[in-house]
Order: sequence, then structure tokens, then C-alpha cells
Amino acid sequence: MRETKHLLFPGDFPALKRRQLNTLQVNLGYKCNQSCTHCHVNAGPTRTEMMQDDCIELVIKYLQQHPVSLLDLTGGAPELHPRFRELVKIAHELDITVRDRCNLTILFEPGQETLAEFLAQYKVEVVASLPCYTEQNVNKQRGKGVFSLSIDALQKLNSLGYGKHDDLNLHLVFNPSGPVLPPAQCQLEQDYKQHLDDDYGIVFNNLFVITNMPIQRFGSSLLSTGHFDSYMTTLRESYQATNLDTVMCKDTVSIDWRGHVYDCDFNQMLNEPLTDQQQHPLHLRDLLNIDISGLGIKTGNHCYGCTAGQGSSCSGALS
Ligand code: SF4
Ligand code: SF4
Repeated sequence: MRETKHLLFPGDFPALKRRQLNTLQVNLGYKCNQSCTHCHVNAGPTRTEMMQDDCIELVIKYLQQHPVSLLDLTGGAPELHPRFRELVKIAHELDITVRDRCNLTILFEPGQETLAEFLAQYKVEVVASLPCYTEQNVNKQRGKGVFSLSIDALQKLNSLGYGKHDDLNLHLVFNPSGPVLPPAQCQLEQDYKQHLDDDYGIVFNNLFVITNMPIQRFGSSLLSTGHFDSYMTTLRESYQATNLDTVMCKDTVSIDWRGHVYDCDFNQMLNEPLTDQQQHPLHLRDLLNIDISGLGIKTGNHCYGCTAGQGSSCSGALS
């Protein structure tokens, strides 16, 4: 894989500072039941990197001691972590919303027979990637048979009230397959809703439309196909300063499976940890005792992906 990091740092993106933290995004490990070709963490069934118990304890302590409103669990398939359900229960007791980045097919894995009911019981918000509403496109990106299992999973979640009841949110995620900006979120959401309802009787809350970042596998493919410079030009020319105020790194931190702290998932993938004022990398245990509001954010040229057009974050468009 070809690296793009040296083309992104140092960049000329405007300086940003953190606000009060309200979202803890935790990557529980790289084990996954799928091995999608586009996976930005290269997850798969044979990966063994999983968050250890001491780090899980730090996550719990952080939730207990700080006014976090959202725990965003990601991976790999976060549900495969042996303490996933414990974390969900603890956050629920603390009145913290839990978001599960769910690949849908996990619902049909051995040992996960009660997962959908569990998620519904604890009002876990399900965010699921479905790159298209057609079988051919989804299978091409995520593997043979994935579309039909995803449809089964969405129907199962619907049957439990997901996408129908106010407290059972089901969101889908779209990102373009090539070096272009995504279409307008609200228009595409309407198309998804119509097709999935007409063809499969599926309902969901929102479609999160996400811009591809020029990093990891996508960045590498941009370099290999000679599209890196033109894609960066597209991102820069679509820059909207109004999105600066709502980029997700202002109030989110991303924790990797070892407990290292990053401004966002993208910086995690670029191995650019958040540092204190003495430039020491921060660990989750440090966060227990310091307030990171006001700290500078590690921006690079990839950040233009967050501010282009309608803007982009782990929760879709910014504007
Ligand atoms: S389901 Fe998600 S985490 Fe798993 S391999 Fe695919 S993209 Fe990666
Ligand atoms: S990539 Fe986006 S979320 Fe990450 S630091 Fe840059 S602006 Fe913030």
C-alpha cells in the first residue's frame, strides 16, 4: 500500500482548537467477520489486535467521571469484543447514548444470535454501512452475499422497532466509490428510502453521506491511478469555511485499541496521536486527569475532506 501521509503533513489547513469533549469514539480492535476490500483499518477474521482489559477499565472510568454524551464503538466488528455488551450496559446506566458501528452481517455470526435483541433492549444507536441500495454494487465493495445478509439484518432490526420508534435509531452510511465528492445527503437519503422501502419494506432514520479521505487504501489507490493531485484540488476548491465550526474533532476523541488518543479516526489511521502542550502523545489514562479543551488539533491537508461542500464527519454531512 502506498502512503500519503508525507503529502498531508505539514499542511496549510486552518488551525483548529478543541471544545468541551462530548463524544468518546473507541476502536475495540481489528477483528471482523468480513474483510472488505476498502476497509480503512484492514480488519478481518484473522486480526488479533483487541483492546485489553486494563484499557477497557479506563474507558469505563472515563465514562463514569466525565460528562460524555455519546460512546461511539467501532472496530473491526466491535460486537466481537468479549466486553462489548458490558460496555453498552454501563454506558446505558450512565445515560450515555451508545452508537454501534455495525456491519449488519455480524447479526448472523455464531454466538451473535441475541445481538439484535440486545441492541434494542439497551437502545443502542445502530450505524451501518450500505454503500448502495443495489445488490451488485454492495457485493462488489463488501463481498459476495453481503447485500442479501445486510437486507435480512435491516429487516430484523426493523422488526424490533429500529427505524420506527423514537428511541431506536438506525442510520445508514454511504461514501462514493471513486475520487469524487458525494452527492447531496438529503437527496440521496430520499433515493435510499424510496428504493429500500419499495423493494424490501425497509425503513431507517438517516443516511450519513461521508467524503472519502485521501488516506489508507483510498489514498493509495489515488496515488496508483494518478488521481491524488486532482482529488486534493477538488477538496480544496470545494472548501467551505462555515464547516470549520462543526468538524467532529472539536468535541470528539478517537481511542485506538491500545488506548492511544487521536483527534479523529482519520488521524488514528495516519498514526498522528493527540499530544499535550509538551508534544507528548496522550493515552486514555492521561485524559482522566487533564482537560483537553482548548488544545490544538493536528490538522493536515486531509482535513479538506471534512470541509468540502456539505462537509463530512462520522455522522455524515455537516451542513
Ligand atoms: S465490515 Fe467494516 S471493519 Fe469489517 S472489514 Fe468491512 S469495512 Fe472493515
Ligand atoms: S480530518 Fe477532519 S476530523 Fe480529523 S482533524 Fe482534520 S478536520 Fe478534524
